[in-house]
Amino acid sequence: MDDRERALDAAHRRATEFLQTLDDRPVWPRASLDEMLGAFGGPLPAHGMDPAAVVDEIAQRADPGLVAIPGGRFFGFVIGGTHPAALAADWLVSAWDQNSGSSTLTPATVAMERVAGKWMLELFGLPASASVGFVTGGQLANFTCLAAARSAVLARHGWDIAELGLRSAPRVRFVIGADRHGSIDRAARFLGIGRSEFTIIASDDQGRMRADALERTLEGEDGPLIVCLQAGEVHTGAFDDFGALIPIAQRHRAWVHVDGAFGLWAAASASLRPLTAGMHLADSWATDAHKTLNVPYDCGMAIVRNPADSIAAFRTGGDYLIYSGLDPWDVTPELSRRARGVPAWAAMRSMGQDGIARLIDGLHANAVAMAAGLAAIDAMEVLNDVDYTQVMFRLETDDATRALGAAILADGTAAVTGAEWRGRATLRCSMSSWATTTSDIDRTVSAIRRLVNA
Ligand SMILES: *Cc1c(COP(=O)(O)O)cnc(C)c1O
Repeated sequence: MDDRERALDAAHRRATEFLQTLDDRPVWPRASLDEMLGAFGGPLPAHGMDPAAVVDEIAQRADPGLVAIPGGRFFGFVIGGTHPAALAADWLVSAWDQNSGSSTLTPATVAMERVAGKWMLELFGLPASASVGFVTGGQLANFTCLAAARSAVLARHGWDIAELGLRSAPRVRFVIGADRHGSIDRAARFLGIGRSEFTIIASDDQGRMRADALERTLEGEDGPLIVCLQAGEVHTGAFDDFGALIPIAQRHRAWVHVDGAFGLWAAASASLRPLTAGMHLADSWATDAHKTLNVPYDCGMAIVRNPADSIAAFRTGGDYLIYSGLDPWDVTPELSRRARGVPAWAAMRSMGQDGIARLIDGLHANAVAMAAGLAAIDAMEVLNDVDYTQVMFRLETDDATRALGAAILADGTAAVTGAEWRGRATLRCSMSSWATTTSDIDRTVSAIRRLVNA
């Protein structure tokens, strides 16, 4: 065997060993960052080392600092697991080493990405002619869509931002919900839209933008306008009422963007699809494959109704680049990049339409079961309507809630993360992994009951 084969064999063996520990290992890392810096630090060694031995060394040293995200009881933030086909396909991506910005150079991986994008548009009920740019995640998907939005709304008002820049441009009014995800604020910052320029619309008790408030705020508005809506609020899982909100925004010629990092996937389930009703009327949508579709990091999608709007924002003029139709680098900020559409294609091919619907329905069913189990614990309150994948809960005081959060992580049976909601400390469970079983829900509820009663 040559070095490559031996190194890959070592990686296969070590990866399998790690996956086999998932059911039993503490979910939260046992080692701190400082301990990990100790394990990997020191000066760069003067001399090299056998590649397979490097892989073994990495696996041994990293182990105590790894968090069991691909297991069945990681419920923190909103983070998906790794579907087997997607994981294995991701290994091929690295072995193939295809720089997938251009269809001329890498037709196989660009084709898979294009088909994966088409499949997603069908699953989401979005226009088949939309462009789908594969980026690193939801943050970059929001940025990419909003960059297209910014140049398009300025162009409608006679301003070519590529030529004239932003400095003297008409002001773009940026309208967002009170419970938007923080990545919307960051995307705005990257785009030269400052916090003091935000127009923030009040939301209801589940975090949905209020239509009456939007209507009132936009009265008389006729300048460049972007309205950001949300499919899947991170605490409650709530969806904005697109059927009510989008027509209001469109009466003012707004560009409507939907942040659906995990929420867009509700459209792939017949029973949950009503949550997304009217969403297809927007101009752009951001979503993730590395969350709900359970592909490895990194994989998000920036979907833009009119591909000309993404091209206006992103197509490069460099004369060494060869154009042939819509290439990945025409609709995303990146040039060189990995073939991140391949694991998405693999996950969808492996599950099929019915398997994807089962995955989404299963996440929802797990959330309902978790909420019921938690609500039955003394002094525990579940705070949200569990319409989708999120469960938010708390004890009677903020101190007790925070102490429970820390105790859950130290116990290691499961991981949930803390948050603030309406000024109170809460804990949050997100159902995002295909690997979660009903027995994982039971084990988690029992562990939390034990910790509450301890
Ligand atoms: C996770 C999330 C994002 C950011 O996505 P990343 O993949 O972490 O970059 C944006 N919006 C919402 C609603 C999210 O849940």
